[in-house]
Amino acid sequence: MKIACHCGAVIVDQTDFLSYKAYVVADRDWEDFVDASESKGRIDSSLVRLSYQCPQCGRLYVEDASRELHAFIPDEHKVQVLGSSEGVDWRAPLIGSWNDRPYAGQAKGHLWCDADGGTSTEFDDWEQLELAYQALFKRLRESDRLRSALLRKNGQDVHSWACKA
Ligand SMILES: [Zn+2]
Repeated sequence: MKIACHCGAVIVDQTDFLSYKAYVVADRDWEDFVDASESKGRIDSSLVRLSYQCPQCGRLYVEDASRELHAFIPDEHKVQVLGSSEGVDWRAPLIGSWNDRPYAGQAKGHLWCDADGGTSTEFDDWEQLELAYQALFKRLRESDRLRSALLRKNGQDVHSWACKA
């Protein structure tokens, strides 16, 4: 999903853990939402509406009951309101990936982590990617910044770790 913001920015929704996306449940739906979660053990997504905030101009986009997006302009310029309640303490996934035959114009390796102190770096050497992944994994684990970690090479898991909360 992509939203063309009125300011010219494009708000992209193609990955998990976005810092500018949230899920909204109406107060009149809240009890039904909680009941479904508790009794059926699953989220009733029909009651959940999406919300996005443009990282560039701060416009807030909220879906109405018929899934149409509406834009709202903040009084205070660029206040970001949809980030994690954990703030900079939010624990992020660490993902390293390598492909011997990448798509045209793409690097073979990529290391990504959106935690405070994380990175988004491209690699053309597997050993350098693996070293950088292990170093970042060690550093972010020690500072409790990770929820999971995954290093993949040509579709195979080389290393994986998940926080046991
Ligand atoms: Zn915008």
